[in-house]
Amino acid sequence: MTRVLDGKAIAAKVRGEIAARAAALRARGVVPGLAVVLVGDDPASAVYVRSKTKDAREVGIEAFDHKLPAETTQRELLDLIGRLNEDSAVDGILVQLPLPKHIDTDTIIEAIRPDKDADGLHPENLGRVAQARPRFAACTPSGCMRLLAEAGVEVAGARAVVIGRSVLVGKPVALLLTNANATVTVCHSKTRDLPSVVAGADIVVAAIGKAEFVKGAWIKPGAAVIDVGINRRDDGKLIGDVEYAAAAERAAVITPVPGGVGPMTRAFLLENTVKACELRRG
Ligand code: NAP
Repeated sequence: MTRVLDGKAIAAKVRGEIAARAAALRARGVVPGLAVVLVGDDPASAVYVRSKTKDAREVGIEAFDHKLPAETTQRELLDLIGRLNEDSAVDGILVQLPLPKHIDTDTIIEAIRPDKDADGLHPENLGRVAQARPRFAACTPSGCMRLLAEAGVEVAGARAVVIGRSVLVGKPVALLLTNANATVTVCHSKTRDLPSVVAGADIVVAAIGKAEFVKGAWIKPGAAVIDVGINRRDDGKLIGDVEYAAAAERAAVITPVPGGVGPMTRAFLLENTVKACELRRG
């Protein structure tokens, strides 16, 4: 029987744990704070930012909104980050991506104090994950690992195949799987014979950004399939990177899209923020 992992329910459980930690901090007079910075008026980014601030408030994190016009200069944004870095009420800083083209994303991410890097994207935090002594891991990879744990998937010793090598998802998830003692293969657009690589995997993480690119027939019977991809079909429906129905016939565990990894990503932003507060002020 295939187990479909309910990311919404598991994320609700994670949020419950975070709310308890936030309440413990508040009981000692420490209010965890998350600064959410949005530059420009991209409608999708505005929706993401609204849901992140709503999520934060629901678990007892104070959210500070910073909405800046699209013509904000890199210098002005760096100045704001500098102020947030110094603001003791701010534990986590999230800069919504993508940024307008005239702003260099890497420069902005590197300007965030590593101990306030709620998104876990600062090179120091990725480096710590690589050194197997993580402080904050990126939110989506953390969410993938928690999904595997909740499903009772034995990661140690498993053969894991990660498709995608982005700094946001593929690389950090491969590092977290390695830290958890999986034997990891990272695939990308130059990988030869991807179907046979995937066929050997006990765990498949697909983070490509191509609708139903991973075919169900490639999946080893009994494998765990974590589908990170979010692709919008012409009819507006969201689908993943994995051919879901066919893969579900073979996998022991699979995440749906939507309702799988997405809610976990949102939850781990909150977890990083509360952790940042605990580490700095707890
Ligand atoms: P990305 O930066 O575009 O990276 C995509 C990766 O896929 C690259 O490493 C690329 O290889 C690889 N790839 C492309 N074509 C391939 C092919 N034919 N065969 C094998 N590998 C191929 O994307 P991303 O930011 O990692 O995001 C990936 C997907 O996850 C997107 O759909 C995104 O929307 C989604 N996402 C979801 C969440 C969530 O919360 N659910 C969070 C973040 C991202 P090269 O390196 O060789 O180009």
